[in-house]
Amino acid sequence: MPDSAASATVERPHTIDEYKSSAKPTWCPGCGDFGVLNAVYNSLKVKGYNTEDVVVISGIGCSSRFPFFVSAYGFHGVHGRAIPIATGVKVANPDLKVLVVGGDGDAFAIGGGHFVHGMRRNVDVTYVIMDNEIYGLTKGQTSPTSNVGFVTKSSPKGSVDQPLNPLALALISGATFVARGFAGKPKELADLIVQGINHPGMALIDVYSPCPTFNEVNTFKFFRDTTQTIPATHSTSDRAAAIELALQDDPLYLGLFYQATESESFDRRVRRLQTANADESAVMDRLFEQFS
Ligand code: SF4
Repeated sequence: MPDSAASATVERPHTIDEYKSSAKPTWCPGCGDFGVLNAVYNSLKVKGYNTEDVVVISGIGCSSRFPFFVSAYGFHGVHGRAIPIATGVKVANPDLKVLVVGGDGDAFAIGGGHFVHGMRRNVDVTYVIMDNEIYGLTKGQTSPTSNVGFVTKSSPKGSVDQPLNPLALALISGATFVARGFAGKPKELADLIVQGINHPGMALIDVYSPCPTFNEVNTFKFFRDTTQTIPATHSTSDRAAAIELALQDDPLYLGLFYQATESESFDRRVRRLQTANADESAVMDRLFEQFS
């Protein structure tokens, strides 16, 4: 997939420390989100972005505290609404590099509708989901990605719900970039995030990010034992093959599942329309001025 010239440019060398804010992460010791945070710092360093050109947007949940820990613009939004906020930011200022971050509850429960429409709309943002298969902030209830039989405070006899498959849902919704990472492999995760940033459209990276406080099943060891890198023979431009891989649970694959060879983002389409209808836009601007 060709990199967009603007986003591939290293603006100037930066150190990792320049992307760290003065706020120290408040996550529990051993939380997978630390590994994801390190991967994001590294990916920003690789891109060489100036901190004032980056916006980190989140919803609600443990992982949604993320914007506080990055030295960049940040928006800790409302539950499940990170994608609409990011869409507005990117359309209003396409030069900004927009990262969306959050957890599985935020993305797939209350934010489920926005997730589907975000994927088909293809706004040029990178969406990193810290998927721990449980609600951590509210102290341990089943989430949309919890497995059948999973015992939590809200399911003392085991969850009876089928888990949602984030990658398969994104792929059938029309996503143009779909990947899976693991917090226990932050270097590989940083590489995926860089690829996602380079992609001219919405890049979904679902990350296994264990919650050692409330999920004793899906641990770092569990994911080390059950994951494998996607075979080199997989064609990342084949959506059907990507869906097939996403549906497999033995092993659970890590890496880039799918990247569309053609991807025109929502914000670019909007700009194209604005340019084509410049006269009409001027009329609308004058009308708004009259009533403002
Ligand atoms: Fe991380 Fe779980 Fe602690 Fe939340 S409750 S900070 S997800 S370990």
